[in-house]
Amino acid sequence: MIIAIDGPAASGKGTLGKRLAAHFGLRHLDTGLLYRAVAKALLDAGHRLDDVAQAVGVARALDPARFDETALKRQEVGEAASIVSALPDVRAALVTFQRDFGRSPPGAVLDGRDIGTVIFPDADVKIFVDAAPEVRARRRASEFDGRVDEVNVLADILRRDPRVHAAARDNIALQYAIEHGLRRSLATLSERRGVPLAHGRRCPEEAS
Ligand code: C5P
Repeated sequence: MIIAIDGPAASGKGTLGKRLAAHFGLRHLDTGLLYRAVAKALLDAGHRLDDVAQAVGVARALDPARFDETALKRQEVGEAASIVSALPDVRAALVTFQRDFGRSPPGAVLDGRDIGTVIFPDADVKIFVDAAPEVRARRRASEFDGRVDEVNVLADILRRDPRVHAAARDNIALQYAIEHGLRRSLATLSERRGVPLAHGRRCPEEAS
């Protein structure tokens, strides 16, 4: 089974993805980390961010099991990642990586910006997670333990993050709220797709 989760930065798609993956015994991939890992490797080695040959070489050799998530989540790495992600050859290498990851048994939950539209348009389930810009700014600021200013983060979100393509709003639209989102996702999965809830449990909404 492949579950595609899309949505803007800091909308909560990663948290939802991890919870769904744990629930169904699937692997989880935060695809933003792939772009961040390529960017960080280039920065660490002193290469230019538009060095396509180096970037593609790094992209083909990525191992998510070795990712240092804290280092990759730093703001400067995110900015470098958006430069690297504009290189078509890097995108192509990472598209292949993501498809291979998702197709390996038993399947996976992938979250990102283009999973349901480009990477797995035929995913079993597509989820779009959204949140108000203010909620996303608070969430992103809290990830940095007060080291970044929420007002600046909000300004950055409003400036840099155009609304995710409407085509990604496929099947299920979720308002931000992880617990609610998880319950909605599980309920919709079992209802529309006949996906059994793990461990013989009923959907949490039914149980409450
Ligand atoms: O989601 P996150 O902030 O970790 O993503 C970092 C960068 O990677 C984004 O700004 C975007 O440029 C790129 N990205 C992408 N496609 C994805 C995930 C991330 O282009 N599926």
